[in-house]
Amino acid sequence: MNIKENIEKVLSALPENVRLVAVSKTKPVEFLQEAYDAGQRLFGENKAQELATKQPQLPDDIQWHFIGHLQTNKVKYIAPFVSLIHAVDSLKLLAEINKQAQKNDRIISCLLEFHIADEDSKFGLLMKDAEVILKSDQFTKLNNIRVCGVMGMATYTEDEQQIRKEFRSLKNIFDELKQKYFADKGEFKEISMGMSGDYPIAVDEGATLVRVGSGIFGARY
Ligand SMILES: *Cc1c(COP(=O)(O)O)cnc(C)c1O
Repeated sequence: MNIKENIEKVLSALPENVRLVAVSKTKPVEFLQEAYDAGQRLFGENKAQELATKQPQLPDDIQWHFIGHLQTNKVKYIAPFVSLIHAVDSLKLLAEINKQAQKNDRIISCLLEFHIADEDSKFGLLMKDAEVILKSDQFTKLNNIRVCGVMGMATYTEDEQQIRKEFRSLKNIFDELKQKYFADKGEFKEISMGMSGDYPIAVDEGATLVRVGSGIFGARY
């Protein structure tokens, strides 16, 4: 496995406006350093403690993205340095991120995670849940978070049409939210979708961030 070649291969399939998040969960810091040396600067992790352990061992100009389900009691571990939290699916979590951001004198960027897959097990909001959050008084008072877009995961299936339909539904959600709640917010521009198995479809359907792990660092065991 050649990490540099793998990154170059993925990048060659991405238009200029799409950014690659190298998903390095479970992988040793030596692998991340190799990706860094190949020019990669965005890394994604899905466990707060693992991220907090890796971050000080690697260069300061890495942008760390938290891509997993985040428990409120873990926000404090990543709040000092995290660059984007991808999978926010409750007002309670937004409020905790806001609180920890305030403590660190920062504004933390977040994406709202939507349930687009045909599977019960995945997390994420429905449109109506998101609207309740966005219309609430509590949300408008959260001055230390910045909602920058949406995130979703497609069903794990070979059926390309289904995957495409699910990514398209996330793009539609983004467009509707943009128009109704974020029309004047330039920062609301990200659509995080697509993993090793389906990122070309996600790019076709309007992704701005793709999250690729095994396609760069090899399979996880
Ligand atoms: C692990 C993970 C990925 C990357 O998955 P690969 O199939 O290894 O590319 C992307 N997004 C999330 C949320 C993940 O947890």
